[in-house]
Amino acid sequence: MLTPLPKTNTDSNSNPIPHVAIFGAGISGLKTAHECIKKGFRVSIYEAREQPGGKCIGFMNSGLPYELTHRQMFSSNPVLLNTLKEISTSEGDNLMTKIEPLPKAQFVWAQKNKTVHFSQKHFNVFTELIYNLKSAWSMLVDGVPIKDVYWFRTRLSAKVIQKSDMNSPVSSYLEYDKRPLLASFLRKVLSSWIAATDNTRTGDILQLLLNKKIPPSSLSPATYSVTLNGPINDTLIIPWYQYLKEQGVNFHFNTALKDIKLSNSKCQYAILDNGVTVQADFFIIAIPPYQTLNILPELKPLLKVESVKSHGFQLHLKKIPSTFKNKSIGIIIDSAWGLSYKLYHSGKYNNTVFAENIQATLSITATRMEHAKGILYHKTLLECNQQEIHDEILAQLGLFSPEFNDCFFNTIQAGPGALIVRKQEANNPKYKNWFKGPEIVDPYGNAAHWLVQNQLENPTCSNGVSTDSCLASNVFIAGEWLNHPQQKWTVPSTIERSMENAQLCVNDVMKEATLV
Ligand SMILES: Cc1cc2nc3c(=O)[nH]c(=O)nc-3n(C[C@H](O)[C@H](O)[C@H](O)COP(=O)(O)OP(=O)(O)OC[C@H]3O[C@@H](n4cnc5c(N)ncnc54)[C@H](O)[C@@H]3O)c2cc1C
Repeated sequence: MLTPLPKTNTDSNSNPIPHVAIFGAGISGLKTAHECIKKGFRVSIYEAREQPGGKCIGFMNSGLPYELTHRQMFSSNPVLLNTLKEISTSEGDNLMTKIEPLPKAQFVWAQKNKTVHFSQKHFNVFTELIYNLKSAWSMLVDGVPIKDVYWFRTRLSAKVIQKSDMNSPVSSYLEYDKRPLLASFLRKVLSSWIAATDNTRTGDILQLLLNKKIPPSSLSPATYSVTLNGPINDTLIIPWYQYLKEQGVNFHFNTALKDIKLSNSKCQYAILDNGVTVQADFFIIAIPPYQTLNILPELKPLLKVESVKSHGFQLHLKKIPSTFKNKSIGIIIDSAWGLSYKLYHSGKYNNTVFAENIQATLSITATRMEHAKGILYHKTLLECNQQEIHDEILAQLGLFSPEFNDCFFNTIQAGPGALIVRKQEANNPKYKNWFKGPEIVDPYGNAAHWLVQNQLENPTCSNGVSTDSCLASNVFIAGEWLNHPQQKWTVPSTIERSMENAQLCVNDVMKEATLV
């Protein structure tokens, strides 16, 4: 019997303009599509989920913020801001109108009821001095010996840093083994802030810590941190998707890349999980690292990426607890689970008055979800049930006391992409790509598991995968986890890094296109 040939999708009929097929519609996929359109290519995107955005998930749900995480972005990054400026909206403006300055941030020691406020302005000589004094004071509050504080400041202000040092793990450049209390402080700050690990590249960390010295982009508000003034789907992902569709990008959802067919060092076509083949002149794979390995197993020796389990939770407030009255965005330094937070005020966030007379929502992100034990139940986050997580996060925020009981509306809610399901349901094939936590007992005595859809994929200093690492000349890679030699913005786990890598990827496609 003859096997019918699978249907072929070219999104074209012998059109002379080169066609680029992009797999994955997260920030990296959207930005590669954006750049490809600017270069005059025809573009099709194939996304496994039913909507674009990937790890960028956040919207209003029943009148209240509901998001995977709160977002902080860096105003000195021109790639991010220029992209936002290029995305025009149906209201006749562009997405720069969605950017809001973050004028202050805090380090909080909830158990000691102590807060250090930082201004988020770019440095002049005077503000740099104040900032350095405050960060030194923060280290002392945390128990770092004064000689280590001095050593750290000297190390940070070194005029010349060898390339080999820049490419070494941060734990070796900052001598974590010789200075355990300094190491403990830095680990907490860097993991809560950008999910950095001991193996994160020194250059990436120095860029983060010295960022205030980089002049702001001319587009930017005067603060060095900025944020979106509403949930990320409403303010960035959906308007960008609409814009790209208007520019002619063909989107295909619920359809995943399964394989590529190579011949003579070129990809002839891609194969989707529904059996359809995709023909194109160029193929861009913009999906997470371990899914990329399924398609390109030859990358395995080069791939050195650490997965960090991180997720957001929302606490809706009927009344703002006294200890959060003057807070905005910050890190709970003494929290076991690496908590960071941002406070959204009703009427200001998304210009929306929150439902249920909620005054504000505390959006909290946990970063050390599978290793560190909490202070109440002595369990990791993924070993706790919903009620235990509520109690534990309140305790780590310094709010586990009857005096705050009238502040909270319901229990703490996990943001989209994380849920507790009964043991049998956890094996449902629809969760096959989700991370499954250890077995727990839910409040009704049933065996259950946490399932987490997204994780941070942090390239270590030895990661060797770049945009052109695939041996086929017409296949390129995009993603936050790549180390590209021309990358200027290397801070891990950032939208900026994803966008810059996507731009570099399309530059590589363009070079290849002009050669053909
Ligand atoms: C908890 C958390 C907090 C964060 N906080 C911040 C922050 O404050 N600021 C900041 O700048 N960044 C933050 N980040 C990082 C930021 O979200 C990421 O850098 C960025 O979203 C990565 O985009 P991406 O497109 O490279 O990957 P992804 O978002 O992972 O997108 C990949 C896409 O590929 C799809 N896909 C997977 N397999 C296939 C397949 N086989 N075929 C087709 N499609 C497929 C996926 O469904 C997904 O849509 C955070 C991330 C997390 C998880």
